[in-house]
Order: sequence, then C-alpha cells, then structure tokens
Amino acid sequence: MAPVTKSVRTRASAKPTWETEMLRIAGLETFYGPSQALFGVDLDVAAGEMVALMGRNGMGKTTTIRSLFGLTPAARGTVEFESRDVRRLPAYRIARLGLGLVPEGRRCFPNLSVRENLQATARAGEWGLARVERLFPRLAERATQSARTLSGGEQQMLAIGRALMTNPRLLVLDEATEGLAPVIRKEIWVAIRTLKEQGQSTLIVDKTLSELLPVVDRCIILEKGLTAWRGLPSELDDTIRDRYLGV
Ligand code: ATP
Repeated sequence: MAPVTKSVRTRASAKPTWETEMLRIAGLETFYGPSQALFGVDLDVAAGEMVALMGRNGMGKTTTIRSLFGLTPAARGTVEFESRDVRRLPAYRIARLGLGLVPEGRRCFPNLSVRENLQATARAGEWGLARVERLFPRLAERATQSARTLSGGEQQMLAIGRALMTNPRLLVLDEATEGLAPVIRKEIWVAIRTLKEQGQSTLIVDKTLSELLPVVDRCIILEKGLTAWRGLPSELDDTIRDRYLGV
C-alpha cells in the first residue's frame, strides 16, 4: 500500500512540483449543515496530468469537487489553483479562473440547439466549436437539434463539450460515464483518451476501473472523507481494491 505520506510526484517525466503544480488541496474539511462530510482531503494535480479521484459511494468525491468549485464551500483547509488561494472565492469567480466542471447529471439548456448550447459557454482559447465537434462527431451530426431530443449519453457529450468550450486549464469530470449505454460510454472513453493525449489537465471520478486505470497518471482514494491512499494505477493491487473500492 502507498501510504498517504508517500510522495505523489511519481511520473518520471514530471518536473518538480513547484514548477508544474496546478491544483493543490490540503486538509479539506466540509460540512453539510451540522454534518461533516470531509475530514481532511489532500489531492493535487500537475499540469498535463490526469488524476483519478476514487472511493466507494458516499466517501466524499462529489463533495470534494463541490468544495473545489465553491459550490459547498469548505470550512477548513487549502484550495490553491495555480498558486492562488481560491477557497473563499464565489463559484463564478473560480470557474472564470480556468476550472471547467462536468457535474453529475449533465446539465444543459434543453430548449437550445446543440450548437447553441456549445456557443453559450464559449470563451477564447484553443477549444472552439470545430474542435469540440471533432472530439464528439455526434454533436456535429446533431448540431441543430434541440438538446432535449438527445439521448442521455449524447447529453453527457454535450456537457463535456460545454465545459471544454470554456477552455478550462483544469477539467473536472464527475461520473461522466455513469449509467450510459455501452456504445456511448465507449465513445466518451475514446474522447477522454484523446484529451489525455492532448495534455488536458483533468481530475476524473469514475467507477469503470478497466477504462479509468489505463488512462490516468495517478490515483487518489477517499475513505470516509479522508485521503486514504494515493499512488500509481499499477500500484492499485487487489488488496487495495478490496480494502478501499470494494471490488
Ligand atoms: P457517490 O459515489 O455515491 O457519488 P461520493 O464519494 O461522491 O459518493 P459524496 O456525495 O461527496 O460522496 O458524499 C459524502 C458524504 O456527504 C456522504 O456521507 C453523504 O451522505 C453526505 N452528503 C452528500 N450530499 C449531502 C447533502 N446535500 N446533505 C447532507 N449530506 C450530504
């Protein structure tokens, strides 16, 4: 097992932390009313890295993401994005700094067309309509349809596309393939692998280990609102899977 104190800057090609660190979360504690959900989450993402945030149901993955985006602000701890303390910033300002969220539940405007949905979030940068439609050819095929007519999987593609249109320096995907038809899941994983190849920094929550582990650089596992383990995908052996993931 890799204890939480172990150095996580493990990629051979990684530059020193202080040069490449993009996101640093340390000692994060978050409450829902009187009920404490996070008791000390630590995680970091370097530029160009794809990091998996893992753990069984209810262990705090979505709450960590909500706290990162200021949606359920943390009571204690550090949230730094590109060396800037963002913990007390309102959600809209955090998003403007270059964080793109694809939340659970794929939100989009149902009455707008697919293309209008994409245009609605556009911000200057390398990602634009053409590039998003290359990543998801189905969105190009359905450009003029209203979003309401899309299947669940297509709506998920649209949600990812909308996040990319903001040109996020860090993309956060929360259960982007959950509950989708196999053929669509496959297409989304192809897109996620493309994002990885293109050097998109990404924090990703997903339960499909067979797809997730080959694509991520590192894994961080939460248990009961705490960072319990972190290491390389290759270090995630059966004992750790049994203990923390129940698989
Ligand atoms: P899942 O894989 O099921 O999405 P998760 O790891 O994302 O789970 P969270 O949704 O962050 O876990 O939940 C962490 C803890 O916070 C759980 O104990 C959960 O019951 C609690 N919790 C989550 N949302 C709320 C809420 N709105 N109000 C009160 N407690 C909540």
